[in-house]
Amino acid sequence: MERCKHCMLVTRLCVCRERKTLTTNAGFLLVMYDDEVLKPSNTGRLIADVVEDTFAYIWSRTEPNQEMLDLLADPKWFPIVIFPAQYAAPERVVSEPSVPEAKGRCLS
Ligand SMILES: [Zn+2]
Repeated sequence: MERCKHCMLVTRLCVCRERKTLTTNAGFLLVMYDDEVLKPSNTGRLIADVVEDTFAYIWSRTEPNQEMLDLLADPKWFPIVIFPAQYAAPERVVSEPSVPEAKGRCLS
């Protein structure tokens, strides 16, 4: 089965011509278990295709990637974890994030 080298979908279903880059003040940091982001149906891959400021790192609890930690500590971002609310403590759920004016950008 021949796949497009960019979107990784079967060639006849390639969506590259329809792809648009979004103008947004948000960035995405994808934390992956393994190379799952390489799978054609992975939502993270779709996000990376349209949002310029997308970063991806393999997760390691014991040896976190220093570049990822630096990115999270950068004051130009306002990190928010996207996670199903039903699994989070109620006080940690943010439905409508209020981004501080000085930071201006949102890393979610
Ligand atoms: Zn394609």
